Amino acid sequence: PLVLTEFLDRAVDLYGEKLAIIDDDRTLTYRQLNARVNQLSRGLQSLGVKKGDKVAYLAPNSTEMLEGFYGVFQLGAIMTPLNTRLKPADYRFILEHSESKVLLVDHTLYPLVEEVIEDLPSVEHVIIHGDESLSGYETWLSGFASEKFDREVMEETDIASLLYTSGTTGNPKGVLLSHRSNYLHALSSMHHLRVTDQDTLLHVLPMFHVNGWGSPFYYTANGATQVMLRKTDPALILEKVEKYKVSVLHMAPTVLNMVIQTFEEKRPEIKQDVRVVIAGSAPPPAFVRRVEEDLKWKFVQVYGMTEISPLITTSELRSMDIDRPAEEQYRLKAKAGYSMIGSQVKVFDEVGEEVAHDGKTIGEIATRSNNVMEGYYKNEEATNETIRDGWLYTGDMAVVDSGGNIEIVDRKKDVIISGGENISSIEVEATLYEHPSILEAAVVAIPDEKWGEVPHAVVVLREEETLSEEEVILFCREKLAHFKAPKSVAFIAELPKTASGKIQKVVIRKKYWKDHNRLVN
Ligand code: ATP
Ligand code: MG
Repeated sequence: PLVLTEFLDRAVDLYGEKLAIIDDDRTLTYRQLNARVNQLSRGLQSLGVKKGDKVAYLAPNSTEMLEGFYGVFQLGAIMTPLNTRLKPADYRFILEHSESKVLLVDHTLYPLVEEVIEDLPSVEHVIIHGDESLSGYETWLSGFASEKFDREVMEETDIASLLYTSGTTGNPKGVLLSHRSNYLHALSSMHHLRVTDQDTLLHVLPMFHVNGWGSPFYYTANGATQVMLRKTDPALILEKVEKYKVSVLHMAPTVLNMVIQTFEEKRPEIKQDVRVVIAGSAPPPAFVRRVEEDLKWKFVQVYGMTEISPLITTSELRSMDIDRPAEEQYRLKAKAGYSMIGSQVKVFDEVGEEVAHDGKTIGEIATRSNNVMEGYYKNEEATNETIRDGWLYTGDMAVVDSGGNIEIVDRKKDVIISGGENISSIEVEATLYEHPSILEAAVVAIPDEKWGEVPHAVVVLREEETLSEEEVILFCREKLAHFKAPKSVAFIAELPKTASGKIQKVVIRKKYWKDHNRLVN
């Protein structure tokens, strides 16, 4: 059967003495990692963890997190990683909702849940790692044998993970993914991202989040070296890239933006030949240019969501596009791209017809894919709303160009409807990002008596730059149709973001919509 433990087996068989993990000063070969995984499975078994039980993890990208994946799977148990940037009430919600039996938590994050876990009936054990004086994780682990673990019999339809969505548009939803979905997603991703045993990956995307979640499978299966990044710090990212000769990184565009920024300010010498940096969330073409021309890292955009393991499209240039002029290539890479193997991806209009491939007719992205979730945990209604007639509806609005490349124009909930016209907040943001003084921008709909809604820009300026509201509006009017240009601009120090680095427009919108009835959530 297609079960995820096979990936580690392959790495141990073929790459046993190769470096699996670099986690600051600590390194492990695949054989050493496997030994710890076996110890962990026995340890969890001794705590009563059985097939189908949920084991929650609250940890930065770390050795403990990666060994947790496989240690949990060997028992047929379900891995439930928790977002590291939630509030205590959110942890209570997720730990209760998931009925997690054991919680493994990094000592730096323990204070976040310390009070919450006191009265949670399902959580029977809490294990703290990273500080031996607190719980002695290493001592506990060393008490168990490291030989081959007698694994639970598993079917490919067994659930491997219960992942909670980012909560960009509201409350996080629990997504159940099977071994099969994760496995086939890994095969598809390793092909499209050209992963090999020569790769060294820097784990920038948090592994608790689905984007970071998928990659440990396909980099492990190929015996690649995985460098842990415990803190999302742009200078540290650049430093680790050089120090460990990193060849590939996956990260959110907002983080990549910070990296470019740091690079431009400090101009550190980059000798390392990064073969590709992979990002989601529709970066503007200007941004792709800076990555490819300034950092000299090749850029690929991918698109996906928790509900589909996550990736279903890639913008890696196809053979017919590789001879295009650079600017055209950047424009193509700023799109979500075309379907990856194992996923059929279409854009449907309101009556369920595929939209014309004209680059302007908007519809909703839907997919039939090997990667699709089994459903939202304990939420049949939301599951049936999302998966209809075998198609998963993503809630993302897009156009398709004549080459079949999908371009996301907005989330359904973020489209601005002004005087009957649909405005893509992403398009307006892309224009703002072209302004040299603007570091970050988000555009949201705000209520307007005449037009129903109008675009409002919230802007973060680069350090020591000044700009007036009028200047921003004029800049946009020069480049965009008048009705698309923001009618008002607010300057703030920082945009609200999710832990994976996504801008939470719902938070920005709330302020303006409280007296109106547009759904902000
Ligand atoms: P929630 O569902 O809780 O509101 P979320 O949708 O942000 O949160 P994720 O599953 O982490 O949770 O993110 C998936 C979403 O991210 C997609 O539906 C899409 O809106 C956005 N996204 C992902 N990749 C891209 C991309 N390449 N371009 C534009 N948007 C993207
Ligand atoms: Mg979502």
